[in-house]
Amino acid sequence: MKIEHYAVFGQPISHSKSPRIHKLFAEQTGQLMDYVAQEVPAETFAAATSRFFADGGKGLNCTVPLKELAWQYADHLTERARQAKAVNTLVCQADDSILGDNTDGIGLLNDLTINHGITLNGAKILILGAGGATRGVVPPLLEQQPSTLIIVNRNAGKAQAIAEDFAELGAVHACDYANLTDRQFDLIINATSASLSGDLPPLPEALLKTGGSCYDLAYANQATAFVTWGLANNAAQSLDGLGMLVEQAAEAFFIWRGVRPQTSTIIGLLNAERELNNTN
Ligand code: NDP
Repeated sequence: MKIEHYAVFGQPISHSKSPRIHKLFAEQTGQLMDYVAQEVPAETFAAATSRFFADGGKGLNCTVPLKELAWQYADHLTERARQAKAVNTLVCQADDSILGDNTDGIGLLNDLTINHGITLNGAKILILGAGGATRGVVPPLLEQQPSTLIIVNRNAGKAQAIAEDFAELGAVHACDYANLTDRQFDLIINATSASLSGDLPPLPEALLKTGGSCYDLAYANQATAFVTWGLANNAAQSLDGLGMLVEQAAEAFFIWRGVRPQTSTIIGLLNAERELNNTN
């Protein structure tokens, strides 16, 4: 048996937890594979990806700022990747063509519903931000039939464009931050990159319903600004995106290897390591 090769491309990439997560998946499921992180800027993405697959690479994850380029690169797209207009997982198929998929949405959905028991059906959901991640998470959220799904963004035109692109899947509305006053939601999802710089989008008070939850797609060693906002606003759960990261990786692993890793132990391990780091 020969070791099969996988990688994640992005820039920056040194902070990526993906090699660790896939190593844990491989150990847990007995797969003979390796997975490395490689710094790849947008300008050299196509050449680096072609070389990776020509050298026998089996599968690739793509992260910031490469997801749209990966979408363009793929020979074929899954339906969810086509809708998202962004690809985070490339797989070399038997005929050597490259299939592009997007596992971000299912990753979020699994973390919200399976790991944290958050009900989406009939819920009033607000998404902050209208970038690539929002495009990935809107279709699976709509499938759960929330009573309301609103996207708010600084650049309201981008939120409007997403609402229009996904109109065939269900009712999704766009607004700007000034229109949030006097509205309340069961679930607020922060899909902006604000937390990465310690910032918080301009949120009015009382935006979260009593018993509601907050979810920040970003994750860090300490609570993000949005997770802290959720706690200060009495969220029943105020979570960051570490669970989503593991869940989207598990979906990619399943696409590549045909084996579904057990995620809860790995999320537990990463959370325990994070707590240990914070107490040291
Ligand atoms: P993009 O760069 O595509 O989009 C960023 C969005 O954030 C834009 O809508 C932008 O608004 C908004 N934004 C940035 N700064 C602020 C601010 N200070 N206040 C309000 N809005 C702001 O990023 P992605 O969509 O790819 O990623 C978004 C986040 O999701 C990142 O933190 C990323 O790390 C995380 N993520 C996590 C995953 C996981 O597995 N946990 C998976 C995928 C993403 P505007 O358009 O007005 O500039």
